[in-house]
Amino acid sequence: MAEIVIRNLRKEFGAFTAVRSSSFKIEDGEFFMLLGPSGCGKTTTLRMIAGLELPTSGEIYIDGEEVSRKPASQRDIAFVFQMFALYPHMNVRRNISYPLVSQGMSRRQVSEKVAEVARILGIEGILDRPVGGLSGGDRQRVALGRAIVRNPKAFMMDEPLGALDAEFREHMAEELRALHDRMGATTVYVTHDQLEAMQMGDKIVVMNHGVIEQFGTPQDIYSKPATMFIANFIGDPPMNFLRVRGSVEAGATSIRFHQRTMAVPEMREPFDGDMVVGVRPEHIRFSDSAEIRGQVRATEYLGTTQIVTVATENGDVKARIASGIYARTGENVGLEFDPATITLFDNQSGRALRSDLNEGVLSHV
Ligand code: ATP
Repeated sequence: MAEIVIRNLRKEFGAFTAVRSSSFKIEDGEFFMLLGPSGCGKTTTLRMIAGLELPTSGEIYIDGEEVSRKPASQRDIAFVFQMFALYPHMNVRRNISYPLVSQGMSRRQVSEKVAEVARILGIEGILDRPVGGLSGGDRQRVALGRAIVRNPKAFMMDEPLGALDAEFREHMAEELRALHDRMGATTVYVTHDQLEAMQMGDKIVVMNHGVIEQFGTPQDIYSKPATMFIANFIGDPPMNFLRVRGSVEAGATSIRFHQRTMAVPEMREPFDGDMVVGVRPEHIRFSDSAEIRGQVRATEYLGTTQIVTVATENGDVKARIASGIYARTGENVGLEFDPATITLFDNQSGRALRSDLNEGVLSHV
């Protein structure tokens, strides 16, 4: 069990800065996701926490003790590199017991520990099988077993499900999360897959070009994005952006553009210039009386819902509406946005403007 605190962490590789100045806290027992596009610095951050890479500057604390310069072997962290990395010439029992045997633990203790881990993972029946003939799921369970048998303070996992096909991946994601809930060990998990992060994480740090864009619960990150990058990176389809020119006062509850008025959450800061109205597809509905109008360009049937693309004078807008609603290509429709869910952004910096919706969340960013 471990609480992990990261302060102003920075990593340079020569002239290139992979991680700029990261600060966040991982609570004891949390399933914590490091999310972002390829090359954003997730793995480097994870490797610094595990002690496999030394930071250029900044600090890492595990349970209150500074470990920034300590070698990996003194941090008591299990790094699950790649779940399929097993010793092929050993059977399941020997693969799982290997870390304990190499620590010099007695045979009886090793045997008890392996039995306990096998029970947790539901693999008691395959302990004497060679790993070579196992199914993908069982191999993955064995690799996990080898990590948890040491009972480390925390687990670091780097895209552990990356190599799996979609269906199996979802199954293993559920299993991993359930295992975490049973064991309650702090887990830090790297992924570039936003769905995986939302599905499994208690908290998410989203990184981009070595910088933390937002840190919070999946719900906050989805519904109260701190930046346009987040609003676009999270969600499928992503948040719609409508570019408008105008100004708002602190306390305003609507904005004006193109001689139209649009209700928004009460603003907490004034702004004048190029703004972007951000609205999620599921917060749009068709309405005959709506002022924002456009032509249906395409519909994508998804079973219970459909994604309707509407060309407006502010650009294409994607609405997720019930599939029973009839939308004909070429038809002129009015679009009503749920005002309580709208985020306004500064178009230049991409930063969300503070409002009733997001103020509590942005103060942590
Ligand atoms: P990916 O999912 O592609 O691994 P990531 O977010 O995990 O992405 P990192 O592996 O942390 O990214 O790498 C961040 C950046 O640092 C990349 O541009 C990478 O090329 C660079 N980098 C990582 N390790 C080194 C190294 N040892 N020497 C030089 N550059 C490195």
